[in-house]
Amino acid sequence: MTQEDLFKKIVSHCKEYGFIFQSSELYDGLSAVYDYGQNGVELKNNIKEYWWKAMVQLNEEVVGLDSAIFMHPTIWKASGHVDAFNDPLIDNKDSKKRYRADVLIEDHIEKFNDKINKEVEKARKRFGEAFNEEQFRSTNQRVLDYQAKMDAVKARFVKALEDNDLDGIRQIIIDEGIVCPISGTKNWTEVRQFNLMFDTKLGSVAEGANTIYLRPETAQGIFVNYLNVQKTGRMKIPFGIAQIGKAFRNEIVARQFIFRMREFEQMEMQYFVKPGTELEWFEKWREKRLKWHKALGLGDNKYRWHKHDKLAHYANAAYDIEFDFPFGFKEIEGIHSRTNFDLSQHQQFSGKKIQYFDNEANEAYTPYVVETSIGLDRMFLSIISSAYCEEQIGDETRVVLRIPAPLAPVKVAVLPLVKKDGLPELAEKIMNRLKLNLNCQYEEKDSIGKRYRRQDAIGTPFCITVDHQSAEDGTVTLRHRDTMEQERVSIDDIERIVTEKCDIKNLLRQLM
Ligand code: ATP
Repeated sequence: MTQEDLFKKIVSHCKEYGFIFQSSELYDGLSAVYDYGQNGVELKNNIKEYWWKAMVQLNEEVVGLDSAIFMHPTIWKASGHVDAFNDPLIDNKDSKKRYRADVLIEDHIEKFNDKINKEVEKARKRFGEAFNEEQFRSTNQRVLDYQAKMDAVKARFVKALEDNDLDGIRQIIIDEGIVCPISGTKNWTEVRQFNLMFDTKLGSVAEGANTIYLRPETAQGIFVNYLNVQKTGRMKIPFGIAQIGKAFRNEIVARQFIFRMREFEQMEMQYFVKPGTELEWFEKWREKRLKWHKALGLGDNKYRWHKHDKLAHYANAAYDIEFDFPFGFKEIEGIHSRTNFDLSQHQQFSGKKIQYFDNEANEAYTPYVVETSIGLDRMFLSIISSAYCEEQIGDETRVVLRIPAPLAPVKVAVLPLVKKDGLPELAEKIMNRLKLNLNCQYEEKDSIGKRYRRQDAIGTPFCITVDHQSAEDGTVTLRHRDTMEQERVSIDDIERIVTEKCDIKNLLRQLM
């Protein structure tokens, strides 16, 4: 199965099993906006819980916040979003399709990498055991040529971005012969800037009403509450403020399912530090955040670092964690050293002092900030896409979602073997005991085999089957999702066994 086919299957699986629906589907949908269904919302809540506990509960110096989506419009002037939150756009005149010019060039650059990797793989096969990859990469002429070409395009691209040179960006597309994936032609328009913020009006009278923006990131809500939290929480630097919430961007290239949405959710943390110590904290948070991802056990090889070639105007260091999605390695989380840019800007635009008085050093300063910013929806996609698995069992295919047990939407399904002889009543009793602690599902329709398959398809780690023996000796069959193994256990032991595997503590413990 190609990665493209796999991705299509994941998308339709998400719909079929109540994880994700197209928004407003009844009215033919709204592009790049999605709704989370009955299982999706559970998985999403569990990811949030994992993040919140890892950030706020495990770090005594990090506290939470829930700021409003609507904010004073000057905030977005101060943050630079009104003037600089732009994407460079280009249209293909034949297909009439619109693209982000920077994405076209980045995809083109990635193709050089693919070519290099192909050469490496070919050589690995040829040389077998004796293959020295490092040496091959640094001496093979073809690899060196690709690398040189890639470096040259990258350098031109970074320069054009830095100079805000839209013609220069277009010229790279022309010179590199980049074609529209739909029409296959190079018939491109000029490159234009497009602001990604949605705006609306505050108040009921349009006339004289203020234009306000739907926040494109949650971070600014944290910055403008810095003083409130620091003072009321008596926070000492270094400390962090964490927030989970919706963000909105009028994305031009809305594709790849929930990877790029117009309404999405972010989990962001701003860590306030003493100037001069920011790079040290930056390294610490890079390490912590990667550990958080790896604790899920989706595979260490699924993550890689991407260092920003072009730093945003406010940053002095920036890395992304990229995840190996079915459509390739793409950003899932950004870790940025944002200097004191935001707080200084808000100080200037609000005319109010935003400073920290350091008692020990007896000095006041504007703190520096290290940010960790992850997209909840991208995180969801990373989990669901690496969990999706098709297994051949005899002449049947089993579709199973190997979601890490603590994040699974339903932890245990309680299934009476038949709908009579008091088995449903006993099953319900068991359900009532378990549901205080665990998200359970009760199912009595269809054969037991079919019910197991349905639970596999939503990633339920355990099924328990209540049969005639249960009524006699107080035991049930416990079935494990991943191995399909079945064992006979006492009803009194179920809660302990399931909790042991599904407790979020299993993930958190790995971060200590
Ligand atoms: P990209 O380069 O993919 O547009 P970005 O660099 O603009 O992303 P940030 O502004 O750093 O993203 O936002 C932090 C995180 O928010 C990203 O790592 C990503 O996980 C998530 N995110 C950003 N834009 C979107 C979107 N349109 N849909 C879903 N998640 C998003």
